[in-house]
Amino acid sequence: MAGRKDLQSKAFFIDKYEDFLKELELGDIIFRPFFGGLLQHAGIYCGSRKYIHPVVKKYLKPELNIVCPECGQDLVLMDCGHNVHFVAELSLCKTDEVEKSVKGLVAAKGAEGSSFRTKYNLCILKNFMEDKGAYKYNFVDEDVKPLPVEQILERAMRAVTNPKYRQDYNLLSFNCECFASFCRNGVATSKQVREIAEAILDTAVSHLDAAGYRTAAYWIRIIALDTKKGRKRPAAEAGSEDDPDDDPKKAKKS
Ligand SMILES: [Zn+2]
Repeated sequence: MAGRKDLQSKAFFIDKYEDFLKELELGDIIFRPFFGGLLQHAGIYCGSRKYIHPVVKKYLKPELNIVCPECGQDLVLMDCGHNVHFVAELSLCKTDEVEKSVKGLVAAKGAEGSSFRTKYNLCILKNFMEDKGAYKYNFVDEDVKPLPVEQILERAMRAVTNPKYRQDYNLLSFNCECFASFCRNGVATSKQVREIAEAILDTAVSHLDAAGYRTAAYWIRIIALDTKKGRKRPAAEAGSEDDPDDDPKKAKKS
């Protein structure tokens, strides 16, 4: 993007917090490792309390129950002056944590018998980073132009504050990356799931090839693997009122 900073920053640990802030622009996607670095958790950078964006301010309601980690002041009611920055995130929480959460912040639905529930949250950047560090990575921007900042923040904040705009967490079809890319680029996609799926497909094709099914392997490579660079169309437009009417899957159903 002309005039934009790099799509991806290096990783910053909490001792370089101030340097990390210099890399960030409103609506950026921030990642931090979890599960020992095996997976990455993603969220949308929503700016600071001090210079709060009007869209974020509009949704900053007492039920969000956000307190400053430095002084314990309620950040919705006032700006305590500490350097507090926000990240909107979709995650999973344990079912027994639901009761402890503020009513309305946790989607009521969840798989029957599952011990996890979908959770939308506006959290503090320092808490998001934990002790594992974080980096900025607008991973869809090369394929799909980001939405205007107002729209990115609107999508993030309305999901955090209004159940109507939430989709349940699903590791494969709607995970934290999907939520972040849906807010930023308007397409719900996950590079981690895509990479795993492509690796599996690649292995399967190699087996086909080795077993003598060369024509089948050839066509699968052409269709599914070699075209992945040019693939721009999203798999799903989730939880939005502006679903494209030209979605062929939907047209067939109706
Ligand atoms: Zn404070």
